[in-house]
Amino acid sequence: MSYKYLFGPVLSRRLGVSLGVDMVPHKYCTMNCIYCEVGKTTNLLKERDEYIPVQGIITELKDYLSNNPEPDYITFSGAGEPTLNSGIGEVVRFIKDNFTREKIALITNASLLSDPQLRSEIVDIDLIMPSLDAVSDDVYNLINRPCTGISIDDIIEGLISFRKESESQMWLEVFIISGVNDNEDELSLLKKAISKINPDRVQLNSLDRPGTESSVNKVTLEELERIAAKLDTNKVDIISRTAKSIKNVDKKINSETSDEDQALIETRIIATVSRRPCTAEELALILNCRSERIQKVIAKMEKNGVLSSAEKERGRFYRKAK
Ligand code: SF4
Repeated sequence: MSYKYLFGPVLSRRLGVSLGVDMVPHKYCTMNCIYCEVGKTTNLLKERDEYIPVQGIITELKDYLSNNPEPDYITFSGAGEPTLNSGIGEVVRFIKDNFTREKIALITNASLLSDPQLRSEIVDIDLIMPSLDAVSDDVYNLINRPCTGISIDDIIEGLISFRKESESQMWLEVFIISGVNDNEDELSLLKKAISKINPDRVQLNSLDRPGTESSVNKVTLEELERIAAKLDTNKVDIISRTAKSIKNVDKKINSETSDEDQALIETRIIATVSRRPCTAEELALILNCRSERIQKVIAKMEKNGVLSSAEKERGRFYRKAK
């Protein structure tokens, strides 16, 4: 069956193999963030509704999960704010009742968490990844450009309440924009709010690719490290691609060759194709690697009997050899 609401699975830096679920159409959101990589919000609203029919999502999930290797996470995300879908609780229930081993992640801007009804619908998810980019009204309005009636105080209160009510992991993401929320005052406010919310992890991010507004400036790794130290070194991860660890991985993967590089690429290919057969082009995309480089590695792995392949309508698919 072809899927309209599911996407991936993709190999995510934070979630491993993640099967995405679109809960709202492009681009229904409660915010119109200046850094949004999805594009400008065309439907800025806060009313919840079944913007995508829940039965359609459930039918696709049932088909996918019954016929494919299990992903590390089923992730509610997509092109807007997933909690706007009033049927999200029904989808959570369906997964928890029928596919007990699957883990659920939710990527959210947290704008609707002040609603106790929503909190009760998602209380059983395994991981929530909410955003909090600012605490002062001015900076919050400048960065997130929310729908009327969504206050930053309510967002913080919602996060605190959810943290108390749910046992799910919480990784709070803070998107840093140079010259906007990286000043001492805003960082102090963020530090206080984070301490009240008490997430498991705080993840600092910054611009990786073109966002909605061209004026949004990237933050250097040194700056992110300074901010991490200011917030709380024990809990903060730098997840922007400017981070050394990630930069090194990408550099390794794209460099010509050494035994270590080769092993790294092979491990990541195996991790991907043992869950789902992929074409060379898909692997290049998922692994963020040059296509010619992937082709060379795949050819060698196939010759050595590590991979097998089959020609299909969409191209040659590779899988882990039995
Ligand atoms: S909340 Fe997320 S989807 Fe909505 S505008 Fe901001 S970054 Fe984009």
